[in-house]
Amino acid sequence: MNAEEFRQRGKEMIDYVADYIENIQERRVFPTVEPGYLHQLIPDHAPEEGEKWEDLFKDIERVIMPGVTHWHHPQFHAYFPTANSYPSICADILSDAIACTGFSWACSPACTELEVVMMDWLAKLLNLPEQFLSGGKGGGVIQGTASESTLVALLAARHKAVHDYRQTHPDVKNDEEVAAKLVAYCSDNAHSSVERAGLLGHVKIMQLPADDKHSLRGDTLQEAINKDKSQGLIPCFVCATLGTTLSCGFDNTKELGTVCEKEGIWMHIDAAYAGSAFICPEYRYLLDGVEHAMSFDFNPHKWLLVNFDCSAMWFKDTSYMVEAFKVEPLYLRHNNTGSVPDFRHWQIPFGRRFRSLKLWFVLRLYGVKALQEYIRKHITLAHEFEALVVKDDRFEITAEVIMGLVCFRIKGPNEPNEKLLKLINEDGRIHLVPSKINDTYFIRFAVCAKSTESKDITYAWSVITELATGIMENNQ
Ligand code: PLP
Repeated sequence: MNAEEFRQRGKEMIDYVADYIENIQERRVFPTVEPGYLHQLIPDHAPEEGEKWEDLFKDIERVIMPGVTHWHHPQFHAYFPTANSYPSICADILSDAIACTGFSWACSPACTELEVVMMDWLAKLLNLPEQFLSGGKGGGVIQGTASESTLVALLAARHKAVHDYRQTHPDVKNDEEVAAKLVAYCSDNAHSSVERAGLLGHVKIMQLPADDKHSLRGDTLQEAINKDKSQGLIPCFVCATLGTTLSCGFDNTKELGTVCEKEGIWMHIDAAYAGSAFICPEYRYLLDGVEHAMSFDFNPHKWLLVNFDCSAMWFKDTSYMVEAFKVEPLYLRHNNTGSVPDFRHWQIPFGRRFRSLKLWFVLRLYGVKALQEYIRKHITLAHEFEALVVKDDRFEITAEVIMGLVCFRIKGPNEPNEKLLKLINEDGRIHLVPSKINDTYFIRFAVCAKSTESKDITYAWSVITELATGIMENNQ
């Protein structure tokens, strides 16, 4: 493809993308294909000679679209949202054109410097404590995912804990002796990526019971720490969650943070989904306690109209992480080494995309007010759905609705709820996923798409009640 062809085909692709997004509601939200479907639609080897654009373009509808779950369909209510916006797509095109690999400042100074400024812009939007901003010991970086951020935080905490322990215990022979005794904590409602970070980082993770509001409390943490210390273990890390995947519960970061500070433990906050809402002053109270955290992360790629991947992570003191991750061969050094951030020291991978362009485009083209309105609209729609559930006394709400997620179930045993969810997803008009806390099975209804409106909420509820009524009648 030469430049002239690229101009023409690129425009065709933009038209296809705009048509896809604007007419997405005409598609079935969840695909009907069986595993292995795609294998039968394309050859099992790459073509010897280049093919025609027209042939490839036709195959988007024939091969790809039948197997796509349409996350931006107004009736997609599963998981949590993943963001999508035209400004962000435009920025990604530019990022793909520049196609730099920003592992150091010298790789493309704009790539590093825009990221530093964007992370400060975002930090100010969230009203994060000053220590998280660049200029002092702290600073922010864009990671690929919240899971990576948790792992990075855990590894930095592990490094710090081993170092601190050896300072006060000079008789200890090596780092491994300390590392084997490290222990970390999260709530039993935390995302699976926390447990995984423990597996990858070789730190035992204790899942502590959340209270009846799905919140991990300070006294539960303190008790666990006391017990573990009495057995010779070394507590080093707590991952608190603001907006759990199971029910959008909020851990009590003020209480947890107070315990962590007293015990000299690293607190990381995972606010993957809910973090975007903290740009609204009326929801900022949910972030209180962040002043006790050593690191904090949320995903603009979930709820802030920045396409995947863009996970925003801040540190109060970046030196622990840089010390933990730093490897600096001669060929990576440059004239400004040491005086500018080289972001490869702040992350797991070596290379990195120019992701801050997405933030820059979205923040400038929408502006703060429109982004706040976007968050508020989703939360209002969630409350509209909640009101419909509450009005029907066959159903119950299982968790306080704080953000854009509603957890609900048919009253009574789990089985009709399991049946209902199976019917909903087989029916295919809407798409939802389940959750379970303390053996109670329930259904999660998340407001996800940019295009979801009140009429889609009432439509979803009409589908749910129609299918639920069928189940209840059959059971009589
Ligand atoms: N943490 C929480 C609370 C989540 O809800 C999720 C995903 O929904 C994750 C972490 C994982 O996010 P990511 O895909 O960015 O790793």
